[in-house]
Amino acid sequence: MSIAENIEKLRERIENAARKVERDPSEIKLLAVTKTHPIPIIEEAIKHGIEYIGENRIQEAVEKIPFLKDNIREFHFIGHLQSNKIKKLMKLEPALIHSIDKLSTARKLNEHLGELKKKQDILIQVNTSAEASKFGIDPQETVPFVQEIAQLKNLQITGLMTIGMFTSDETIIRKCFQTLRRLFEEIKRENIPGVKMKFLSMGMTDDFEIALEEGANIIRIGSAIFGARNY
Ligand SMILES: *Cc1c(COP(=O)(O)O)cnc(C)c1O
Repeated sequence: MSIAENIEKLRERIENAARKVERDPSEIKLLAVTKTHPIPIIEEAIKHGIEYIGENRIQEAVEKIPFLKDNIREFHFIGHLQSNKIKKLMKLEPALIHSIDKLSTARKLNEHLGELKKKQDILIQVNTSAEASKFGIDPQETVPFVQEIAQLKNLQITGLMTIGMFTSDETIIRKCFQTLRRLFEEIKRENIPGVKMKFLSMGMTDDFEIALEEGANIIRIGSAIFGARNY
């Protein structure tokens, strides 16, 4: 199937999943995850309506995003952020960083933003599957972590992100997303100064329909648009 057809089919699936739980599909941000795919392929997706692009490696983003920037609405960084890559990332002006999970990195980012006289929207990544291999803060530690990050005045927390458990058991995947949703509501209720809970970034190619049912408003989709990745 062509990229155009993939996108059309994906939009249909998003609409159906949203309608099933009486949600407005237009409130859902489709982030196309373009890692491993070359610029011409990404341009093809942009031609067919993709407006939001996500990359998970700084080096790859540095090589691609400057050439795509004029034709997209937003670039999001979704990968693990190492503190020695902060300056490179900030040059790409990400609209949103999905993956803050470490206080020391957040402090360095805050400091660098101070030098640039800029603010940055971020999401806190939560490890809802309790898989040791995954990044993200433990669910039980998320509220205090948010309170701590909220004090860094150049960082604006706008929501939470998670990667669901890699399993075919739908019940387990759903539990991951429910955990994130519950934390989202809890943090909202806390009314922490400077924290605006707007975005729930959850759901990928294999589980976005479950994520949409559980309240996701950013889904991060790679394979369903571009096909399988060749590393
Ligand atoms: C690669 C990646 C995705 C997209 O994965 P697909 O299964 O191809 O849709 C989403 N989120 C993150 C953090 C990723 O690294």
